[in-house]
Amino acid sequence: MHNYAVPDNNRSNRAGGGLGRHPARLVAHWKNISETGGKTNLQHPALGCQVCPRLCNISPGKRGFCRVRENRDGKLYATNYGECSSYGLDPMEKKPLYHFYPGSLIFSLGSVGCNLRCGFCQNWQIAHGNPATTYLSPERAVETAMRQKERGYPCVGLAYTYNEPFMWYEYVYDTAMLAREAGLKNVLVTNGYVNEEPLKEMLPYIDAMNIDVKAFTDEFYRSNCAGRLAPVLSTAEIAHRQCHVEITTLLVTGLNDGPEEVERLAGWLAGLDPEIPLHLSRYFPNYNMDLPPTPPDTLARARETALQKLRYVYIGNAPELRAANTRCPGCDKLLIDRRGYNALVGDISGGACPGCGERIAVVM
Ligand code: SF4
Repeated sequence: MHNYAVPDNNRSNRAGGGLGRHPARLVAHWKNISETGGKTNLQHPALGCQVCPRLCNISPGKRGFCRVRENRDGKLYATNYGECSSYGLDPMEKKPLYHFYPGSLIFSLGSVGCNLRCGFCQNWQIAHGNPATTYLSPERAVETAMRQKERGYPCVGLAYTYNEPFMWYEYVYDTAMLAREAGLKNVLVTNGYVNEEPLKEMLPYIDAMNIDVKAFTDEFYRSNCAGRLAPVLSTAEIAHRQCHVEITTLLVTGLNDGPEEVERLAGWLAGLDPEIPLHLSRYFPNYNMDLPPTPPDTLARARETALQKLRYVYIGNAPELRAANTRCPGCDKLLIDRRGYNALVGDISGGACPGCGERIAVVM
């Protein structure tokens, strides 16, 4: 565990909270940056944060773009350490992860803050708003997940989700380490907008990631998310070498749902590994975007296009299209029957289709 300093202005426990310390933590990971700032200007050091490609220079008393990392007297703090805006026991299919312990449950928790500004954000109240939070220490988070197992729920671990998990990096790191020691799995549901160094430091404790690739053009990222595409692709490529990865793309009407773009997305993913599941998700108007919902025909065509290169392509947020089941790529046998977030898993525990023997890429 990192050796964090605790700031002077500790607050008391939050209601329902954990082990009783203020959650803000000195950012130990980026010590070198703090020291550089201190040497440069001891009175008013502008701190650089290295978590994500924004590399915010943060003036004293100010916060970075994500609104949660703050320069306090020349030191960088994670102000949302352990501050949970939501937590609960979710189906794994809700992350969505369809090829990682299908049909199981996972204790899911999220904080506040995000380093992108997607106009269509589906979680904007917690990513960009100021929701009430409850302090949950890493120890308490792991204990809570363990308790679900002891009660007989098929809970396999913890998912850091709802807001961008790399925005409470230190907390996720500490909790994931404890969870791993307790024999639990760790899952990140992330926009992938993170720098290589913190990603590689986190990955040894991570078992699975669902990474949003919001589009396959840099122009989309610039215009709609205030970000860039390349770091996200790099995250997926690095993560795939170390843990289970699935990709989600929200197809936004008229913006990123053209067949050529879907074909390029699928081609890139197939180049990594054609067995990586791709979730094409239906967009609905939200936050700052009021374009009409993605037409079902567009989703169905996009799936057909992607299936030319990938073995597993699903459609989310459109149950009427019945494209959430897992079928054998060899003989089309139904292997996992999904209704909503419920999954009925067939006999694939041996890692092969019971019909034709084809290898099935599912972690269980
Ligand atoms: S994590 Fe936040 S403070 Fe750090 S670089 Fe990214 S947006 Fe800026």
